Amino acid sequence: MQNENPMKTLEDFNFKNKKAIIRVDFNVPLNNEFQVTDATRIQAAKSTISAILAQGGSCVLMSHLGRPKGFQEAFSLQHIVTSVEEVLGCKVKFVKDCIGANAEDAVAHLAPGEVLLLENLRFYEEEKNGDVAFSEKLSKLGDIYVNDAFGTAHRAHASTTIIAQFFEQNKCFGNLLAREIESIDKVLNNSEKPVLAILGGAKVSSKITVIENILDKVDHLIIGGGMSFTFVKAQGGKIGNSICEDDKMELALEILKQAKAKGVEVHIPVDVIAADDFSNDANTQILDINEIPDGWEGVDAGPKSREKFDVVVNKCKTILWNGPLGVFEMESFAGGTIALGHSIDKATKNGAFSLVGGGDSVAAVKQFGFAEKVSYVSTGGGAMLEMLEGKTLPGIEAILK
Ligand code: AMP
Repeated sequence: MQNENPMKTLEDFNFKNKKAIIRVDFNVPLNNEFQVTDATRIQAAKSTISAILAQGGSCVLMSHLGRPKGFQEAFSLQHIVTSVEEVLGCKVKFVKDCIGANAEDAVAHLAPGEVLLLENLRFYEEEKNGDVAFSEKLSKLGDIYVNDAFGTAHRAHASTTIIAQFFEQNKCFGNLLAREIESIDKVLNNSEKPVLAILGGAKVSSKITVIENILDKVDHLIIGGGMSFTFVKAQGGKIGNSICEDDKMELALEILKQAKAKGVEVHIPVDVIAADDFSNDANTQILDINEIPDGWEGVDAGPKSREKFDVVVNKCKTILWNGPLGVFEMESFAGGTIALGHSIDKATKNGAFSLVGGGDSVAAVKQFGFAEKVSYVSTGGGAMLEMLEGKTLPGIEAILK
């Protein structure tokens, strides 16, 4: 971390008879009957909550759910109480507000070892506005502030950032957030060499700042997926109907130049699975990436590219993966992304540290069963990308201050 202040975690406090107000990320998907369809985010918060309860503390949980406009029953966190109880294995109390007399009363009656869930923070627009008076009201609901929500750590909202100023020394990272920070730090600052970053996905434009920041940190860079075609075309290749950002071609050349100057080896696919339609049952053929005729578009890494990437992945000791190598949502074009997952699995088994994060690659590793095989899967999409861009996230900075 750039900050010189020590990183405070749960271990720096004794929670016995203390009330912890914890910002969790319980923004979970619900079905039409308001049942939780994926409890991953609740499970991710369990480690922090259980640790505090085990010490004889109590937990006041606060989160947002969806994007309500004022109070809307459909977005009430009451819907998730049963799921939270199932995951934690204990009773969870609920209060129909997140500030004010009712909330304060519920907290006052909370005994050691008990859990209270507050109503959706975003029923108040002050939450997203980072309102100071609202933050102060939230701060009355606990003795120690714990931030365990990485997914919202890049937002300067009341519960994620502004509230921290009311706790002076009594604030820390929860276990999940601490692990996220450590994992990214292990890749960006304390990495074992050689270090590899794999950037895929659709667009160069959404990853430029990430690329620029990590060029100083890595030895190898794999550029795959849709964004590789901007690099190929910029160097004179024929890419047919493949996706390309023409206005970013100059930048692509500049990135290659910078990489060379910094001694970073850049690896771009050499062949592709090309399709004559953007559909799962399109006709396909394997083509040299520089020779894709009109009417065909590159939708996945070809066999030679997969082999080449396997060699690079397996000679590296630190691996960061963000973005798929192809249109993995369609079964016919998922092969390159799956092959890369196998390569990273192998490297991890041989001792490499592998971090997967940022949006679609997380969906891909989960879908193809690699989530348990890599060293760490990040829970934050936008937050992870901003950290890779070299930014200090407001939610993290607020704890370190
Ligand atoms: P991103 O959110 O930037 O990581 O991009 C992820 C998206 O990139 C996924 O939806 C993929 O389907 C898409 N993608 C990856 N490779 C290609 C490609 N060759 N052509 C079109 N889209 C692609």
